[in-house]
Parts: sequence; structure tokens; C-alpha cells
Amino acid sequence: MTNMYYNQDINENVLDGKKIAVIGYGSQGHAHAQNLKDSGFDVVVGIRPGKSFDKAKEDGLEVATVAEAAEQADVIMVLLPDERQKQVYEEEIAPALKAGKALAFAHGFNIHFGQIKPPADVDVFLVAPKGPGHLVRRTFEAGAGVPALFGVYQDASGTARETALAYSKGIGSARGGVLETSFEEETVTDLFGEQAVLCGGLTSLIKAGFETLVEAGYQPELAYFETLHETKLIVDLMYEGGMAGMRYSVSDTAEWGDFVSGPRVIDADTKARMKSILEDIQSGKFAKEWIQENEDGRPNFNRIEKEEAGHQLEEVGEKLRAMMPFVAKGLKKEEEVTAG
Ligand code: NDP
Ligand code: MG
Ligand code: MG
Repeated sequence: MTNMYYNQDINENVLDGKKIAVIGYGSQGHAHAQNLKDSGFDVVVGIRPGKSFDKAKEDGLEVATVAEAAEQADVIMVLLPDERQKQVYEEEIAPALKAGKALAFAHGFNIHFGQIKPPADVDVFLVAPKGPGHLVRRTFEAGAGVPALFGVYQDASGTARETALAYSKGIGSARGGVLETSFEEETVTDLFGEQAVLCGGLTSLIKAGFETLVEAGYQPELAYFETLHETKLIVDLMYEGGMAGMRYSVSDTAEWGDFVSGPRVIDADTKARMKSILEDIQSGKFAKEWIQENEDGRPNFNRIEKEEAGHQLEEVGEKLRAMMPFVAKGLKKEEEVTAG
């Protein structure tokens, strides 16, 4: 059974008199810290000297080193890149963990795959907004909220669940609804979603469509509009009204083409490969390889990122977007957006 919670279901008093350390001030960090502060909570940002440190100060937040923030706080939310968390945790956070404190995450990766092993006398929970950090902030300011998942891995105090819910309310997510999950479920489904559908599936689909048109001799600019640019417009319709809502707005010819050709693109073989991707995530194979890639200094990651940036679709897109200031403006506002 699905358990959903909204603002009116949550009593945030469990965080009265408590201090929350937000560790990291990137996509999620800046949103959590500012939203919690605006919700009336006592927040300190724990961050190394640098760009994020300066930004947090500029935004009027209390700022400290990671170790100091962890020392002062009752709730420590770790919003560092997943692949950096283990080291920073061991060096700067673990020494500050005392019985009764809570350690929190926005993604279950390091706990679920055994990279971080917290002591038994602290609470461990996650609050994972289902959206990019910049939208977590922007929707909060607009009086709305990005829905989130929450889950408890370890309940030493007996109030870990209440704390997780209060935290969700503080960042504005309970305005949209928070859904109870486990670290295992959040970690596996988040990785699967970004790999098979949101990031991996979508970029591969768009690229294959673009290449098919260009290789057949059609203009690259046209192919860009048809495959990448228009994807947002179609996805907006689905976001607002589901697939039926999108199909209502497109022509019947497009809808018929959707029915007869969609299943030829994504077929039972594709689904079988999705299942094997899911299995690699569940077994820990993906995590093991990603951890190894980082330990090796990211040779493949860096090479592929560079190759991808040089794709014809990206070159054409950059020129076209420069002529559409409204699109470029939207991107700037969004800054670095990831699917999380
Ligand atoms: P970002 O990469 O945007 O931000 C990372 C922050 O950590 C930066 O402020 C960076 O500071 C800081 N940092 C990096 N290394 C260190 C270090 N060694 N010591 C101190 N600070 C450091 O991360 P995200 O917000 O994308 O991700 C944070 C967590 O949220 C992850 O667990 C992720 O899975 C999860 N998540 C992310 C989503 C998203 O929208 N991006 C969505 C849902 C969950 P500096 O400027 O100094 O490098
Ligand atoms: Mg069309
Ligand atoms: Mg993710």
C-alpha cells in the first residue's frame, strides 16, 4: 500500500530547537538550506572553501566547515556528489556523530551499497525530492513544492520517521506530497529511472532519431527541431495530462503514427534489455563499476562526456538556441540541472 503524506499530516515540532546541517551547497544543497531556513528551521551549511562556500554566504546562510557543521548539528543532511560522500563522511562527518543525532541523504546509494556504515546509535533517513534542486527552490518560492520520497534505514531514537517527515515539510515537498519508501527501493528505482528512461533512454532515443534523419539526407537543423526541441513540448503535455492529454493535442495522424510505430521503436527486446539494466542495478554490478570508474580517475566518463559534447546534434543545437533567447534564458535560470 502506498503511504502519501501532506503538510496537514505532519507535525514539525520534532525539529524544535534542533539544528540542521546541510552538507554541500550544489543543486540540492542550496535548495534544502534556503527552503529550511525560510520554513523557520535553524540551518548551518557545511562546505569546503570555494565557489559553493561563497555562494552560501552571499545567500545569507550560516556557513561552516563540514566538520564544524556536523559537530553543531542534530540532523546532518549529506548533499555532496554521491561518489564523494564516502570520503567526506569518514574524514569529517563520522567523528561528529553522537547518539541521538540523525544522518540524512537525498539518495540511498552510499547506504544501500554499503559505502557508508553509520553507527547503530544514530537515526538514518532519506528525503529525496523527485526533481532537480533548482526546481526544489523555485517551486518553493512560488508557494508550491516538488514531491519527495522519504524512508528510514535506521531508527535509533524512535522518532526517525517523524524527523524525516518534518524535514520533508521544511523543504516544501509535503506541499506536493511525500511517499514512504525504503533505501533499497529509492536507490534502485532512481538509478533505473535515470538510466533507462529519463537520461539514458531519452538521449539515446533523440540521438537515434536525429541521426536517422540526417543520414537520410535531411537538414540537421530541421532534425534538431523535430527530435530534441519538440520533445519538451510533447513532454509538457504528458506532464500536464498524461499520455491521453498529449494525444488529445496532437493530430490524429500523429496519434495513429504513435500507435503503429512507437512499439516498433521500443519493443519486447528493448524491455528485456531494460530488465537486464534493472538486474545490474539490483545486484550492485552498476554501483561497483561506477565506484571503480571514480577510483580510476574517471577515464571513460571523461572520454564519453567529451565525445557526446562533440555530437553534431549538440553543435547544431547550440547555434539554434542562440537564436532563441527565450530558450537560453530558461536554461540559465535553471543552471545545472540533473535528473538526480
Ligand atoms: P552537486 O554536484 O550539485 O553539489 C555538490 C556540492 O558538494 C557542491 O556544493 C560542492 O562544492 C560540494 N562538495 C563536493 N566535494 C566536496 C568536498 N570534498 N567537501 C565539501 N564539499 C564538497 O550535487 P547534487 O545536489 O546533484 O547531489 C547531492 C545529492 O542529492 C546526491 O546524493 C544526489 O544523488 C542527490 N539528488 C540530486 C538531485 C539533483 O537534482 N541534482 C535530485 C535528487 C537527489 P564545490 O562548489 O566546492 O565543489
Ligand atoms: Mg510533427
Ligand atoms: Mg539519481
